Amino acid sequence: MQISTAPRLSVVIPAYNEEMGIEAALTRVAAALEGINGVWQIIVVDDGSSDRTAALVEKLIATIPQLELVQLSRNFGHQNAITAGLAATRGEYTAIMDADLQDPPELLPRFLEEAEGGADVVYGVRKTRRASPIKKTLYWIYYRLLRAISEQPVPLDAGDFCLMSARVVEALNAMPERVRYLRGLRNWVGFRQVGVEYDRPDRHSGGTKYSYYKLFRLAGAGVLSSSRLPLKLSIYLGVGLAALGFLWALRVIYARFAYGVAPQGFSATIVAVLCLGGAQLVAIGVLGQYLSRVLDQVEGRPHYLVSRVVRAETREGE
Ligand code: UDP
Ligand code: MG
Repeated sequence: MQISTAPRLSVVIPAYNEEMGIEAALTRVAAALEGINGVWQIIVVDDGSSDRTAALVEKLIATIPQLELVQLSRNFGHQNAITAGLAATRGEYTAIMDADLQDPPELLPRFLEEAEGGADVVYGVRKTRRASPIKKTLYWIYYRLLRAISEQPVPLDAGDFCLMSARVVEALNAMPERVRYLRGLRNWVGFRQVGVEYDRPDRHSGGTKYSYYKLFRLAGAGVLSSSRLPLKLSIYLGVGLAALGFLWALRVIYARFAYGVAPQGFSATIVAVLCLGGAQLVAIGVLGQYLSRVLDQVEGRPHYLVSRVVRAETREGE
């Protein structure tokens, strides 16, 4: 099928080793989109899967011609995969959702309605989520911490699941940030943004593709891109510690003259050295994190490389 006019809605779905559930997911997304008013397309970005994900998607194009596959040259990570998808969209509106059905596709028509009502960004807000108590607690703390230190108000419990107008997508595509924290960038764009609450179900099948390491990296990217507060914190910490040291010195001098007590306290020295040393290392570490972002940026490598694009017409034509 040739899509000549811009589709009403493009849905971007990053997928990494999702062979167990991808067919069910795409079928359900397609069914949910049947009812919308206008042409739609689904762009699956295969983020360097080592399983049959890409092959299965390619096969499905025969039954769902609105489906398109963008295959990356290797695993670039969730955020970069979404970035690749956004660059490939042509829709008046673009939605982003995961491939594991944790973002219910049935909400998309509702999102679209909100957007047609004048919102530029409609994002899902997780009212409840299924995860281990540890993960849930970490998520809870993280979003509140991020909100507290962000220079711009961050909506709580909002992930990447969203629908955006073309001008927002265009703005995101124009952002050169190498380290992508899309929900942060999306929030930064502004315009009218609306949250829609939903209950986040469990993964349809398979296990999470986000290791704790990847999750912490994403969390770090969120902090680094939304706030410069950690940089300032080392100044505050430094000033605080220096003030403490100064007060201590005053006390020692006072004790020497008032009571003739010579300075003593080997342990106090050790404590001071350790505290100061620790604080300095933390401050250097924070600096290093920001510096590494500068380095990433200066290198200027692309966010991803596409190895192959498959869509209905190229399959028939080539
Ligand atoms: N994903 C990806 N690249 C990666 C890791 C994950 O494209 O390196 C995709 C994955 O296939 C899924 C989405 O990103 O569609 C979210 O990943 P996952 O469901 O594993 O994360 P969780 O929901 O557990 O946080
Ligand atoms: Mg998931």
